[in-house]
Amino acid sequence: MTQTNPIIELRGVSFSYGEGARAALDHVSLSISEGDFVGVIGPSGAGKSTLAAVMSGAIPHHFTGQLYGATLIDGKDTCEVTLTDISRIVGSVLQDIDAQMVASVVEDEMLFGLENFGVPHDQIEERISQTLATVGISDLREREIATLSGGQKQKVAIAAILALAPRVLVLDEPTAALDPASSTLVFETLRKVNELAGITIVVIEQKVALLSKYCDRVLVMNEGALAFDGEPHEVFSHASELRSMGVDSPRVARMANSLAQRGVIAAGSAPCLNVAEAKELVADLVAGHVPTPGEKDVAAAARAGSRHVPAARPHAEGAEPVVELSGVNFSYPSGGASVNDLEMRVYPGELVGIVGQNGAGKTTLTKLLNGLLRPSSGSVRIAGMDTHAVPTSAIAARCATPFHNP
Ligand code: ADP
Repeated sequence: MTQTNPIIELRGVSFSYGEGARAALDHVSLSISEGDFVGVIGPSGAGKSTLAAVMSGAIPHHFTGQLYGATLIDGKDTCEVTLTDISRIVGSVLQDIDAQMVASVVEDEMLFGLENFGVPHDQIEERISQTLATVGISDLREREIATLSGGQKQKVAIAAILALAPRVLVLDEPTAALDPASSTLVFETLRKVNELAGITIVVIEQKVALLSKYCDRVLVMNEGALAFDGEPHEVFSHASELRSMGVDSPRVARMANSLAQRGVIAAGSAPCLNVAEAKELVADLVAGHVPTPGEKDVAAAARAGSRHVPAARPHAEGAEPVVELSGVNFSYPSGGASVNDLEMRVYPGELVGIVGQNGAGKTTLTKLLNGLLRPSSGSVRIAGMDTHAVPTSAIAARCATPFHNP
């Protein structure tokens, strides 16, 4: 097999955003071959976005700071070519897609990039319709971007960049605001363009199960340096080192690592990364004859059941709810019901998580709680105050909201 040249190569790259600032990247060397599907993971502040900025040419062309080492894109040093030349090879989808998108309608968003890139007019229609079809959003072509769900918007952002025919796609946490089903669909789209069009994918992602399922290589960043670089099974066999950096491993990998620690399976065995692999491992163990002492421990623990028991409510018996929603309905002027006949009580001291698909009404519920919205019918009471009866400032004094896009 002939060795292909790397499409991206970092040689001892260090970068700090300003004089005296600590190194956001610290002597990073790596090379990515055309067609790779690479995931990047690491705790927050580890340098992942900075790495993405180096790969997309935003460093050195957009961010100023102190840069050492060399980054080569398709063999050319990013310091010696223009950002436009780099972006013909590397397309990047930023973390804040709302900031990235410039048009209000999907088709215009795609046209904007194509016209900016000087794509001949007679090719534009084909590029748009083909890319929309590849990403599976042909039906969204005429839609207002503001009316799309998070998952749909993410796909539009990907399509707008793909239409420019890059050879590499760098994405910064494309699923950060998405529910599990939409996150999987985004990764399915990435797999499709990787497999069908041979586009190299570099994706920063916190969802380890997705990374291990779709990527053929995982880079772990920690304090600006590359801590691990390898095939997912190899990287997640270092679960305890990863944990000490604040990086999770897939649940099944943690299970396999703990079986290895107890001597049930050979130390150093590759961990399982998905349910199918875990099933195979368990079937092999069950088929084995004399259980090892470790196996006995595991079986006893399994018989004893989970140690997790639902915690007793921390609030005092008879306490009044601090948040009380009764028969709450709300719909936005432009659409159908967003919150429908909602009953909810939260007591002092409780820690309550709200989960749901994109578009399920979670943000609307938050806005009903902090008084940015009032119910169309029913009542919302915060610390005894009916939100219909008091100004938003009085509610804000009792209910604080950090929004997901600070
Ligand atoms: P991650 O993406 O892993 O969260 P980042 O690359 O965003 O990490 O950050 C790495 C370091 O660089 C952090 O110390 C962060 O505070 C700093 N940093 C990131 N962006 C900027 C910026 N635009 N200006 C100054 N410092 C920055």
